[in-house]
Amino acid sequence: MIPFKAPVEDILTCLRGVAGAARLPDWDDTLTEEILGHFASFAEGVIAPIDEKGDAQGCRLEGGRVRMPDGFGEAYAQLAEGGWQGLTAPEDHGGMAQNAAVAAGVSEIFSGANHSLQMVCNLVPGAISTLLKFGSEAQQNAWLPRLAAGEVLSTMCLTEPGAGSDLSRIRTRATRDGDGWRIEGEKIFISGGDQDLSEGVLHLVLARTGEDGVKGLSLFLCDSDPDGERNAIAVTRIEEKLGLHASPTCQLAFDGARAELIGQEGGGLMAMFTMMNHARLDVALQGVAHASRAHQIAAAYAEERRQGRRPDGGEAVLADHPDVRRMLDTQRSLALGARAMAYLTMVELALGENRALVDFLTPVCKVFCTEAGITAADLGIQVLGGYGYLTEYRVSQTWRDARITAIYEGANGIHAVALATRGLRDPGGADAFADLVQELVGDDANGLALLSGWQEMRAEMGTDPLEKAHDFMMLTGELLFRALWCRIAAGGDEEHLRLARTVARRRF
Ligand SMILES: Cc1cc2nc3c(=O)[nH]c(=O)nc-3n(C[C@H](O)[C@H](O)[C@H](O)COP(=O)(O)OP(=O)(O)OC[C@H]3O[C@@H](n4cnc5c(N)ncnc54)[C@H](O)[C@@H]3O)c2cc1C
Repeated sequence: MIPFKAPVEDILTCLRGVAGAARLPDWDDTLTEEILGHFASFAEGVIAPIDEKGDAQGCRLEGGRVRMPDGFGEAYAQLAEGGWQGLTAPEDHGGMAQNAAVAAGVSEIFSGANHSLQMVCNLVPGAISTLLKFGSEAQQNAWLPRLAAGEVLSTMCLTEPGAGSDLSRIRTRATRDGDGWRIEGEKIFISGGDQDLSEGVLHLVLARTGEDGVKGLSLFLCDSDPDGERNAIAVTRIEEKLGLHASPTCQLAFDGARAELIGQEGGGLMAMFTMMNHARLDVALQGVAHASRAHQIAAAYAEERRQGRRPDGGEAVLADHPDVRRMLDTQRSLALGARAMAYLTMVELALGENRALVDFLTPVCKVFCTEAGITAADLGIQVLGGYGYLTEYRVSQTWRDARITAIYEGANGIHAVALATRGLRDPGGADAFADLVQELVGDDANGLALLSGWQEMRAEMGTDPLEKAHDFMMLTGELLFRALWCRIAAGGDEEHLRLARTVARRRF
C-alpha cells in the first residue's frame, strides 16, 4: 500500500500563485499554512489509515441504526475534539471563523485521505452557511454551537424514489402542527442519514408545502432527537454501492417527524441552493483529491516496478517508458489544473465581488474536476497494469469512489445544460469568464486561439443549445484548464513548465 501524503504544497501554490487568495480581506498566509499542515498530519496519521478497512468492512444496519466501520468512531471523536467541524462557524458560536478557501484546502485533504468519512462529516459547513443565511436567531443559537463542536452532523435530504434530478417531483409533505410542522414521506440516497459517530443528526429536508412545482417546496430542519427522544424518522435500508462503502447511503421514512421551517415558506429551493452550491464545489474538490491520489499511487509504483529495457539496454522501470510517462503527466496535469480551477472559483466566491462569474464558473468547475478525478483514477489503473485492477494498491478504490462525483450534486449532463442555457442567458457571466481567460493566457498564442474558437461556439449556442450543451461544456472546461496552466507555468517551476507544454499539445 502506498501511504496517503497530503498535497499541502500544491494546494498552497494554487491558492497563492493562481487563485490570488491574498485578495481576500481576511487572508492570513502563515495561519493558512499552519492549519493545512496540522490537518495534513491528522489526515495522514488518523483518517487515511482507516480508509482501506472502511472500504472492506462497509456500514451495517442493525436494529434500525447504522453502524460505521471499525475505527471511524475514534477518528471522528479526534476530529471533533480538534475543532475541525467548526472550521467555518463564527467564533461566537464556538467556531474558528476561517474563510471558504482555507476550508476548501482542509476538505480536499480530507477527501483524498478518506472520501467516505469526508462525505459523512462535510455537509456541516454547508448547513452552517444555510443557517447563517436563512435560519432564525433561535435556530442559529440552537444549532451552530452543536455543529461546530461536532455534537451533531448534518444531512441534505432532497432525493426521493420518483425525484432525482427533477426536484419538482418531490412528494414528501410538510403540514403545520401548532407552532411547528410535521413531515411525512420517503427520502432515498441520503448520505449519513444515520451513523454512530455523533450524538445526533440535523436533517435539512426539502418538503412540499404547496402544489406549484419547485415553488411549492420549503426547507425544514428536523432534529433526529428533539427533547432527547427519537424523532419519527426511520432508516429503512442502506444501499449496496460500487464505492464509498464506509459512507452510509440511507433510505429514510419520515412518519410525521417534528420539524421547523427554515426561512420562508415556498423558499426551500433557494435556501437549499446555499447548501447545494457549497456541496457542488466540495464535490469538485473530491474530484481534485481523487486525481491527486491516483497520481500519487501511480507515480510511486511506476518508479519501483521493473519492466522492459531502456533504449540504452539497461533495465527499465515503468516510468522510463514514454507511454507510462504520458499517463503520469496527464494525471499530474489534471490534478494540478483542476485544483487551480477549484481554488480560483472558491476565492472568487469568498470575495463575493463578481456573482455572475462565480455562477458561470461553478458548473464548469464541478464537471471538469470530477471528470478529471475519474480520468486520472482510470489512468492510474492502467499504469499499475494487473495490479491496478486488483485491490492491493487501492487505485481501484479511488476509481470506484470517484465515479459517483459525476452523478451526485447535479449529474454532469445537467450542469452542461444549465451552462448552455441559464449560463449564457445573462451575458455578464460569459463575458466575465472570457475576460478571466484573456487575463490568464496573456499573449499565449494557443490560449488565444482556443478563446476565439470558444467565442465562435458561444455565438452559435442560440440554436439547439441542448444538443450542443455537452460539447460547449467540454470546450469551456478545457479552455479554462489550459488558461490556468499558462498561469501555473508563469511561476517558472521546471516541472510545471514541462507539464504546461504537454497540456498545450493535448487533444480533447
Ligand atoms: C452515493 C450517493 C450519495 C448520495 N447522497 C445524497 C444526499 O446526501 N442527499 C440527496 O438528496 N441525494 C443524494 N444522492 C442522490 C443523487 O443526488 C442522485 O442520484 C442524483 O441527483 C441523480 O438522480 P437519479 O439517481 O434519480 O438519476 P436521474 O435523475 O434518473 O438521472 C439519470 C441520468 O440521466 C441524465 N439526466 C437526468 N435528467 C436530465 C436532464 N434534465 N438533462 C440532462 N440529463 C439528465 C443524467 O445523466 C443522469 O445521470 C446520492 C446518491 C448516491 C449514489
